Amino acid sequence: MVTGYCVKCGKANKEAGKNKKMKDAEIVQTARGGFMAKGTCPDCGTKMCAMMSKDNAEKATSSGEAKKGY
Ligand SMILES: [Zn+2]
Repeated sequence: MVTGYCVKCGKANKEAGKNKKMKDAEIVQTARGGFMAKGTCPDCGTKMCAMMSKDNAEKATSSGEAKKGY
């Protein structure tokens, strides 16, 4: 599962913004060679992103949880 932090949901209550399951998740590679998941919050539709390790990025794309954008 690809999760991230939603700034909007976490605005009033920080805990509420944590570990949101990203909708339409896509894994991209950053300019520095790291991996990042991009998606939208399932509750409010705000764009979310989260840094990922290479292992987790590969797991998420090979299992079909996230699109491969790199
Ligand atoms: Zn949200």
